[in-house]
Amino acid sequence: MLALSAHDILHVWEVGEGQHPFDRALTLLAAACPELTRDELAALSVGQRDAWLLALRERTTGPRLSAFVGCPRCAERLEFDLTVADLRAEPSGDEGPWELVADGVSLRFRLPDSRDLAAVLGSQDPEAAGGVLARRCVMHASRDGEPVEVGELSAGVIARLAQRMVECDPQAEVLLDLRCPTCGHSWHALFDIVALFWAELASQAKRLLREVHTLARAYGWREADIVSMSARRRQLYLEMAT
Ligand SMILES: [Zn+2]
Repeated sequence: MLALSAHDILHVWEVGEGQHPFDRALTLLAAACPELTRDELAALSVGQRDAWLLALRERTTGPRLSAFVGCPRCAERLEFDLTVADLRAEPSGDEGPWELVADGVSLRFRLPDSRDLAAVLGSQDPEAAGGVLARRCVMHASRDGEPVEVGELSAGVIARLAQRMVECDPQAEVLLDLRCPTCGHSWHALFDIVALFWAELASQAKRLLREVHTLARAYGWREADIVSMSARRRQLYLEMAT
């Protein structure tokens, strides 16, 4: 995996700006892993994808990150600092396919990947979305040795399956323990590496373009030459030009 260069940041931002976050995640990884096809990246489990995104974030801008969230009770804006290590879940260590017995039904399943998330995109009904994920990810279901149709699994079995999938792929759901200093409310917030990484990348891309604008105006240099300079060199020229 390569760190994103200034050129990559502009390219990824330009391509991903109009994309859904699932596709943005793959666009980010595709820039860093040119040896893998988009299909191979889409087949990573959601937890693997997020572990790779965390690693890419660390390589590109370092291990420290700042996040903010609104308190659900008083709407106070909380800002907090984290390190990539704080966000790394312990891998489950198992290799799939995984198994689960719930309400007498034995299931063999794989973990959801980016294509599975895309398939439930826009579904407002969590139960229906769980059913779609089960149909896609359950490879075999049986009761007392007799095959069972995945479409006929009960809501309770599907809920247990969803819980088991998170246990098997812990990086897919990173919860932060938060407490609001203003009203004292405590809650768990889901950490979204795709949203955070994208917001940072968009702001870096816009800053780079402003730097290109300033330097191109001052010196008449081409965009490609300005972008391929080291950040330090660009910064020194900026100081001289402004
Ligand atoms: Zn509060």
